[in-house]
Amino acid sequence: MVRVEKFPRVDGTLGWLETAPSSRDPLGEQIRGQHEFDVAIIGAGFTGISTALRFAELNPSARIALIDALRVGEGTSGRNAGFLIDVPHNLDGGKTDADEARLLYGLNTFAIQRLREYKDRLDIPYWCESGKYLAAHESENLSALKEFADMLGTAGFDHEVLAGEGLRRRLGTDYYLSAVYTPGNVLVNPAALVRGLVKALPKSVVLFEKSPVTGIEYGPPHRLRFVGGSLSARTVIQATNSFSEEFGKLSNRLAPVFTYASLTRRLSDDEIRDHFKNVAPWGVTSAHPAGSTVRFTVDRRLFVRNTLHFLPELNASPQRLEEAWQQHRRSFEARFPQLTTVDFEYTWGGMLAMTLNHAPVFSSPGDGVYVMAGCNGVGVVKGTYLGYYMADYISGIKSKNLDFILKNSGPSWVPPDPLRTVGARFRLGREAGHAKGEV
Ligand SMILES: Cc1cc2nc3c(=O)[nH]c(=O)nc-3n(C[C@H](O)[C@H](O)[C@H](O)COP(=O)(O)OP(=O)(O)OC[C@H]3O[C@@H](n4cnc5c(N)ncnc54)[C@H](O)[C@@H]3O)c2cc1C
Repeated sequence: MVRVEKFPRVDGTLGWLETAPSSRDPLGEQIRGQHEFDVAIIGAGFTGISTALRFAELNPSARIALIDALRVGEGTSGRNAGFLIDVPHNLDGGKTDADEARLLYGLNTFAIQRLREYKDRLDIPYWCESGKYLAAHESENLSALKEFADMLGTAGFDHEVLAGEGLRRRLGTDYYLSAVYTPGNVLVNPAALVRGLVKALPKSVVLFEKSPVTGIEYGPPHRLRFVGGSLSARTVIQATNSFSEEFGKLSNRLAPVFTYASLTRRLSDDEIRDHFKNVAPWGVTSAHPAGSTVRFTVDRRLFVRNTLHFLPELNASPQRLEEAWQQHRRSFEARFPQLTTVDFEYTWGGMLAMTLNHAPVFSSPGDGVYVMAGCNGVGVVKGTYLGYYMADYISGIKSKNLDFILKNSGPSWVPPDPLRTVGARFRLGREAGHAKGEV
């Protein structure tokens, strides 16, 4: 029996969830008693839900349990920056050549379109087809923008290079020297989106929330243990992001990096008139991997994400959150010096399951067990397509996209602790030191 030692927790106050509609309504029950299902999916984030939706579509008679330790929207899927990124992104693999970029783009746009269809069908709010800016504040990072723009040009992707007054008019701040705008990115409230998707699940999928899996006796059939119950299934799919190594089928592959976000109150009509007149909602990611992500949302809030901590304990302490909040204030006030009286209403943390070579886990260790993890900071879209194609893979459906995923998954080895922690902290510290005004 494999015992799970580390469990997800709510790290901070979750701004997207708190501002999403009906966010206090339970979407599933807490598990109690003994249950039998054909398939158990652990993790009800974008990856797990996408797997459940597609698996149920292909196997309408299969009885599927979808299980989460938290409420849907409380996990990392509801805590991220809400970028549905179409063109490959610097967090997802550093330098990408044009051919690979085109293949990744095909997968990304496939996943965005699938999410868009659910959004339309279920009327999920806060979906914004705003594009995104990759921006630089430091002149030494202009070369990274140029490299990105060159790659986009070679691969034939639409983009626009902006600077000076033109950029200031788009963003309502003159903080950035230059930016590359790509129009296909979508911005969302990720908690509203992930909770909305649950409503698309057919009756054959039973959702259990607030039901941490405490251990697994591997079979088949496999028996999942809970406080007050158990569940057996011949197929177990693990979609638990940074917690995946807890289930005994994956080791030395993930680097759990915490990052943090803050969301302000809604700006007043006066603040909008004085500082954001004619400014449409926008999202900025940084030309430097340790830089800040910033958004001006459809509900007139400002969002800041930055600070990276390597936390093998898989939870963030209040001290870590406070440290991040301090940095968020500094980053916010540097960009919006006219809004220093605007407070953050929410500050929270969440995990990026990083892999050293940026390849995700998409594996079948055998006996009906499947694992997906390691989405490297772009898991809204990547988790959506990995989940979809995992369901195809298990159901025996072949495709070029599945072949591409199989070929390009498989993270490289990460040394065990203490080497892992020492190495990761050194690397993150060095990156943070170089990021300067991008943070
Ligand atoms: C601050 C921040 C900003 C980010 N910004 C973006 C962004 O803009 N765009 C983007 O694409 N990605 C972004 N990411 C990354 C993205 O959020 C993740 O890649 C994505 O959430 C992965 O989805 P998932 O479903 O695989 O994992 P998760 O969303 O983490 O879902 C896994 C689920 O497993 C559950 N679980 C774990 N252990 C157990 C257990 N023992 N029993 C039962 N359930 C368990 C957890 O509760 C969790 O809900 C960001 C991440 C953070 C932290």
